[in-house]
Amino acid sequence: MFVDSHCHINFPELAQNLDEVLSKMRQNQVGHALVVSVNMDDWPGLMELVRPHPHLFASVGVHPDYPDVLEPSVQDLLDRAVDPKVVAIGETGLDYFRLQEPLDWQRERFRIHIRASRQSGLPLIIHTRSASKDTLDIMAQEHAEHAGGVMHCFTESWDVAQAAMAMNFYISFSGIVTFKSASDLQEVARKVPLERLLIETDSPYLAPVPYRGKLNHPALVVHVAEKIAELKGLSVKEVEEASTENFFNLFSKIKR
Ligand SMILES: [Zn+2]
Ligand SMILES: [Zn+2]
Repeated sequence: MFVDSHCHINFPELAQNLDEVLSKMRQNQVGHALVVSVNMDDWPGLMELVRPHPHLFASVGVHPDYPDVLEPSVQDLLDRAVDPKVVAIGETGLDYFRLQEPLDWQRERFRIHIRASRQSGLPLIIHTRSASKDTLDIMAQEHAEHAGGVMHCFTESWDVAQAAMAMNFYISFSGIVTFKSASDLQEVARKVPLERLLIETDSPYLAPVPYRGKLNHPALVVHVAEKIAELKGLSVKEVEEASTENFFNLFSKIKR
């Protein structure tokens, strides 16, 4: 069984065809998917979507790319984290690519999420883009190593991967690792130990080769696993089993 450790099937382009999305998951043996929150306004709808499905789970948090949305306090996140369906805090982090300074609010929001993660005991889902130094600095200052979590849709260097793993984080690869242009990232994927590796789609974006440019969905996570197997000289089965095992170890609120 494969798992998609990070998707957004509550976004309209996928939510409107949810039956098809779920049936394709079954066809490709993608047994579980974690539907990741990006803002508080859409969170009740996300919960409504996952609630009836035993193999779908949720996170709670606000993405760094949303400047003018409801800002959760630590307590707001803790109140929602007690829901049995909520297995992680995020996605949170820093993104200096999409937005420009002043971004003090983004860094403060990140700190709030790390505190909520530590207090709730739920792992963090971290998004970082063009901001790796500040991301690692804030993780260290807020002792994110006590929370642990995942660096999702990883596109950074091996140095950043090592620093994150030293703080108890997993490294998750998306369809980007299948792109021809991603040779540096493919080198990182070769080096990340199998025990620290997760796979994801980040759908509806970033469909893996051979579906690049098309609408992405959780069933396509198998193509990420295939690419990583090829890069590491392993069987797809080995990557499937290890990434699924890691998923259950990290998101330990999910009963197998
Ligand atoms: Zn992200
Ligand atoms: Zn995401």
